[in-house]
Amino acid sequence: MKKKILLLGSTGSVGRNTLEIIEQNPDEFELVGISAHSNVDLMSRQYQKYNPACVCISNSEFANGIAKTVYNGSQLFSGSEGLRTMVREADADIVVNSIVGAAGLLPTLDAIAAGKNVALANKESLVVAGELVTSEARTHGVEIFPVDSEHSAIWQCLLGENNNTIRRIILTASGGPFLKRKEETFDSITVEEALNHPNWKMGNKITIDSATLMNKGFEVIETFWLFGVPPDNIDVVIHPQSIIHSMVEFIDGSVKAQLGIPDMKIPIQFALTYPERRPMAMHNSFLFSHAELTFEPPDYEQFPCLLMAYNSLQAGGTVPAVLNAANEVAVTLFIKGEIKFSDIPVLIDTALQLHTIKHNPSLDDYLEADQWARSVTLKKVQHYD
Ligand code: MG
Repeated sequence: MKKKILLLGSTGSVGRNTLEIIEQNPDEFELVGISAHSNVDLMSRQYQKYNPACVCISNSEFANGIAKTVYNGSQLFSGSEGLRTMVREADADIVVNSIVGAAGLLPTLDAIAAGKNVALANKESLVVAGELVTSEARTHGVEIFPVDSEHSAIWQCLLGENNNTIRRIILTASGGPFLKRKEETFDSITVEEALNHPNWKMGNKITIDSATLMNKGFEVIETFWLFGVPPDNIDVVIHPQSIIHSMVEFIDGSVKAQLGIPDMKIPIQFALTYPERRPMAMHNSFLFSHAELTFEPPDYEQFPCLLMAYNSLQAGGTVPAVLNAANEVAVTLFIKGEIKFSDIPVLIDTALQLHTIKHNPSLDDYLEADQWARSVTLKKVQHYD
């Protein structure tokens, strides 16, 4: 039986890699649907090529652009509600969620409620509402397979182990493009410089998050929800070569690491073929082309976003949702050239300071905190000068 895959965010970096994997394993997978937000051209080409049973453009303004190209027989959905309907109704075994940002949360919850396993690249689902997402997954007997390379590494290290025997998790971080840059010059960082990640080719939002280390902060939160390890036992280590994707230290002092070249196809394929492994052509000679693998502690002063993420996780409730939403707004403004790179943590911190935490939040509380943080952050920028 082929695994039926519904792919959300098909035009992004993880989406395109997922399509390649599906294409390379035609006996293994069937693509039942794709969604994209606004990249109608690429999505139309993907649709023509793979001809899935359902297709969704989640920004309804672009729906007409795709409607012309969709054949009879395929179901066309549009808008954020259309996306949710498609997730609930599509005949899929696994939903690959590679949507960017908090917009991925409701589709994750819909997939879980519909009893579909989730291959989760949308880490923001867990950052915003990790407690809700993981408890819903338990209630519905649904599995969440990590796609993030670090979490795939931890997952692979933990196969055959008992989670009670974890002493700590060591998340590796490349350090991004500004690891060696003087903090005094962070004001003058250009968008182009920030989008130039040394090791990974990714979408714009996550690349900026990697440059501020917010991405690593999000991954600390993601680790907590996926593996149940307390924040004090999750360490971040800078490993600029991005060869070790993360490590687990056990109570007996033994440490397991997972290594590989930095290529998202490896964690994506494992999430889709688990519990099996399937062949993939990889050039691992690159692994040994590094003279050495190095490790250093992160600089929390230079990269305050990482500490903000730890603190938000400790605070709990609606705080991580605010962290995420303020970050999304700040990153968008930076990419548009409206704020400086060094303004990003300042804006996020302002939203966090102003927020009144709500404990044991409902879904509506999370969504409200998200909206509140967006408008507070935008207002702050409008009064900036
Ligand atoms: Mg990652």
